[in-house]
Amino acid sequence: MVESRCGILCSACYHMEKMNCKGCVHISKPFWGDACPVKDCCEGKGLEHCGLCPDFPCALLNEFAYDAEHGDDGKRIEQCRMWAARA
Ligand code: SF4
Ligand code: SF4
Repeated sequence: MVESRCGILCSACYHMEKMNCKGCVHISKPFWGDACPVKDCCEGKGLEHCGLCPDFPCALLNEFAYDAEHGDDGKRIEQCRMWAARA
């Protein structure tokens, strides 16, 4: 079972407790906005996570992963690769 669509490890995210967030795959709407385009795209394709997408890692996912403020230097992309290798 993956924790998010984009590869973020929700269990390691300090927002989870603070914002009472149930984690990406268990919510319909993220606490930080009306919708997450990555989550919507991934779920719209019926995929468990982005690592299973033929377009992985797409420009949108890269934009999120390498965002100067909210990115993680591509860690989530590596996590998706690990999940995909395990599948
Ligand atoms: S950025 Fe989007 S896809 Fe990634 S964990 Fe947050 S809500 Fe889920
Ligand atoms: S890798 Fe990009 S195109 Fe593929 S499901 Fe994720 S956000 Fe959508």
